[in-house]
Amino acid sequence: MIIVMRRDASDDEIARVVERLDQVGAEAHVSRGQTRTVIGAVGDREAITQVPWVALAGVERAVPVLKPFKFVSREFQQDDSIITVRGLAIGGGTFTPIAGPCAVETREQLFTAAQAVRSAGALILRGDAFKPRTSPYAFQGMGEEGLELLAEARDEFDMPFIAEVVDPRHIELVASYADIIRVGTRNMANFPLLSELGKQSKPVMLKRGFTASIEEWLNAAEYVYKEGNHDVIMCERGIRTFETATRNTLDISAVPVLKGLSHLPVFVDPSHSGGHRRLVAPLARVAVAAGADGIMVDVHPNPEQALVDGGQAITPDDFAALMSDVSALVSVMGMSL
Ligand code: PEP
Ligand code: MN
Repeated sequence: MIIVMRRDASDDEIARVVERLDQVGAEAHVSRGQTRTVIGAVGDREAITQVPWVALAGVERAVPVLKPFKFVSREFQQDDSIITVRGLAIGGGTFTPIAGPCAVETREQLFTAAQAVRSAGALILRGDAFKPRTSPYAFQGMGEEGLELLAEARDEFDMPFIAEVVDPRHIELVASYADIIRVGTRNMANFPLLSELGKQSKPVMLKRGFTASIEEWLNAAEYVYKEGNHDVIMCERGIRTFETATRNTLDISAVPVLKGLSHLPVFVDPSHSGGHRRLVAPLARVAVAAGADGIMVDVHPNPEQALVDGGQAITPDDFAALMSDVSALVSVMGMSL
């Protein structure tokens, strides 16, 4: 059961609900969001449902939720979540293209990419300062200097930026620069990292673990939401299968499945899933057609020179061509850019 408090509910009213849950032997999980507080009740279902929750002061409604993930479920919230980033709405009928280099390498590389993707219609810039690399000897990112460059590019091109956090000790640093914090596939099940991200206020994009089921992925989102950060964006980025022709297999059915199970916005990363430049456009197009709320694409001004993931980066010209297909498909889907 989830008990939704009124927007103006007082601390006392919240405390009384928690107390009442305790009396019926249930555990209360209080999630204080920026707009309202919601309380997840875990315990004996019958005992919990016997309490006339709406009769308690400050309670707006009580919603029974059977799924293991509760706050992020569609049972709890029927309407799509809309996440606002610097005035830009994500989810709820708008399509949001995110693009930029996989990693920030130099000022010139970042600014060339940012200018190009912005003029082609990207609304959010991507670029990482911390990279989780398979090899400990590979380029690990520029660190804070990279974040500074991203913040400069944001101001110059008037587009918010998203960047990955790899280490819980860097959350404060990344949050002080980035507009959206990304959790990569390798960290989807890093529960202490997720809980810490739930305690800060920047929106979080949660990529799917490459071996995670959809239910495990939604439970990971619940870790963030539960701590009070209700701005969570899901991103399908491919899963590991027996197929070796692609880097990972893009699970496109995850988009409509998630849309049914959850109210959170769903993005697709056509770059890290296919792992090859020529797959990016077809996978991006299919993402729009499947009902995704946005895409996130690796764009590099000079992919052959890229320090990370050059094989899957597309050029600014390719991105501009892709955006013209995307915008046609977005209108077919009845969405707006
Ligand atoms: C990325 O988006 O740069 C990235 C590392 O992706 P993933 O975590 O999905 O591999
Ligand atoms: Mn990458």
